[in-house]
Amino acid sequence: MTSFYIGLVVLLAALLLFFISRRQRSAAGLPGGRVVYSDTRAWGKVEKPFFDHELGLAGRPDYLVEHEGRFIPVEVKTGRTPSAPYDSHIFQLAAYCYLVHKNTGKRPTHGIIHYPNRNFAVDYTPELESSLLDMLAGMRIDERRPEVFRSHEDPSRCRSCGFRDVCEQKLA
Ligand code: SF4
Repeated sequence: MTSFYIGLVVLLAALLLFFISRRQRSAAGLPGGRVVYSDTRAWGKVEKPFFDHELGLAGRPDYLVEHEGRFIPVEVKTGRTPSAPYDSHIFQLAAYCYLVHKNTGKRPTHGIIHYPNRNFAVDYTPELESSLLDMLAGMRIDERRPEVFRSHEDPSRCRSCGFRDVCEQKLA
């Protein structure tokens, strides 16, 4: 059962990245993020993934911070620090907020995306949750399509893609 879920996590993570650009227009209402200071000493490592059987979703944020009796997920990103969080990172964080809510019974007010030079707090609003659920539902529909077309013209994305070996539309 555990290996099933691990496989599912990997699959969902890959699909999330793969389909994210197709959903960006509908994600125009994403809450964005505000720059915050966060004391990294308060960040606790997460040992085990969270599960949600209803959605068949699992995942593990890099850290959790306890804040006013709630757990706030923290996702650490390497590479260039953007001026605002990428939509794909916001959706990933939203998935962790969803899982934390389902597993602890307490809804996180926000999550944190940590880039090398800046932290962004992203509010976990009902609208963001709804966008996440819509996107996951769309991904499941797309999964059943016999053919899905490439959604970008960026060879660098193909170079780091986990589907590269089997993808007939790869650019690199
Ligand atoms: S190799 Fe490129 S086109 Fe194919 S799935 Fe990956 S990112 Fe998309």
